[in-house]
Amino acid sequence: MNKILFCLFILLSFSCRDDQHHSPSVVFTGEIVNPTGEYVYLFKNDVEIDSAKLDENNRFSFRLDSISEGLHNFKHNPEYQYIYLEEGDSLAVRLNTTDFDESLVFSGSGEKVNNFLIEMFLSHEDEEEYINTLYTLSPSEFSQQIDSLRNIKLEYLERLLQEHEFSDQTREIAQASIDYDYYIYKELYPFFHKKRQGMDQVPELPEDFYAYRENIDLNNEDLTYFRPYYKFINYHLSNRTYMQCVDNCDMANPAVKSYLHFNTHKLGLIDSLITQKDLRDNVFRYVAIDYLLKVQDNAENNQEFIEKFHQLSGNNKHIKEINNLYEGIRNIQPNNELPAIMVADQGGNMVQLKDIARGKDVVFYFWSANQKGHFDSMVSRVKELEKKYPDYHFIGLNFNTEDDTWQNLVASKGLNPENQYRSRNFEELTNTLVIYPMNKVIIAKDSLIVDAFANLYTSF
Ligand SMILES: [Zn+2]
Repeated sequence: MNKILFCLFILLSFSCRDDQHHSPSVVFTGEIVNPTGEYVYLFKNDVEIDSAKLDENNRFSFRLDSISEGLHNFKHNPEYQYIYLEEGDSLAVRLNTTDFDESLVFSGSGEKVNNFLIEMFLSHEDEEEYINTLYTLSPSEFSQQIDSLRNIKLEYLERLLQEHEFSDQTREIAQASIDYDYYIYKELYPFFHKKRQGMDQVPELPEDFYAYRENIDLNNEDLTYFRPYYKFINYHLSNRTYMQCVDNCDMANPAVKSYLHFNTHKLGLIDSLITQKDLRDNVFRYVAIDYLLKVQDNAENNQEFIEKFHQLSGNNKHIKEINNLYEGIRNIQPNNELPAIMVADQGGNMVQLKDIARGKDVVFYFWSANQKGHFDSMVSRVKELEKKYPDYHFIGLNFNTEDDTWQNLVASKGLNPENQYRSRNFEELTNTLVIYPMNKVIIAKDSLIVDAFANLYTSF
């Protein structure tokens, strides 16, 4: 990395041709029209492997000595997109941030598969709305429609493969970029169909409805971080859990009847099916976050869930995050004292949350200058609630905002500065108070928590 930066420095300063001395295995360059930042980042899986600064012409360049062939992604905040890199590739991209995905064009070696991947990505996006209208169809009609859309893309890929030579791995990713989106629709079909048709039970499906499942590798390391595959795995596991609960656990409507049962059942299914470590850790994590954060079950159920989780996935690479979340939720149950969090008042003095709420009825709400839309609607909602509930103190807790920006926003929106505080440690704030969703509020009475999972819009 240092060496690369040094070479770039030399190249810029003296136009020395360092690449004559060692030729990198992969060169990935590009031009960004209307850049939204100074850097482009390159990732393999969830690991950043390099970053490149844009020059005065908004061009960037990665020169990598070695890579492992496969999917990478590059990020120019806030957007990212996949690229497929092979040893020896010299790939260039051009893009315009005002239309990020639609504007991407690749050239150079590796252009065929990369342009194909982006084409598939866009085409799936375009089809989404149409497919959304198909869920009322009968299972076999739905299947036919999905299969014919898939076949059109497969034929297109066939033609491409006749004209250009793809490695086996490249062929696999091209195929995957077609298949998994369609498989997802099929995994979702019974639930969407049931809902749209107002049915009590999921529909009976023809035997070959899930024929593709026979050829699916549930432990494909190359695809672990390929979003359509990862999404498919999650939907597939939910689908199978549901069907098993209906068939074996005597539940007519498992997900609704018992979230704890459904989610622990799902943990067991993951344990029996997914062995590839990264994928296994990620899907286990997904279930935990989904259950703990979104279901907001009672304390006993949460404990039962986390015990099962530790038993099956105690070595999860995300275990610290999950434990923190569990602890965070446990500590903000009703009648607990507000956690020992310090926030700054308008004068820069640090104050304890529980001191703010001492002897008062308080509603804490959260905001950041980064989420402008949320902030605007929140301000008007808070003003409305302040009129309606004059006995309550509505206290704003700001995060991820510079001090002067915060002060200016408070003043320009006419918020009472005495009710405004700012966290200097977002991580501590969100881990301790579990800020999800953004419209969540914490209701407290005399320093004790009444409800830490109330909602600014639906709880009043
Ligand atoms: Zn079950």
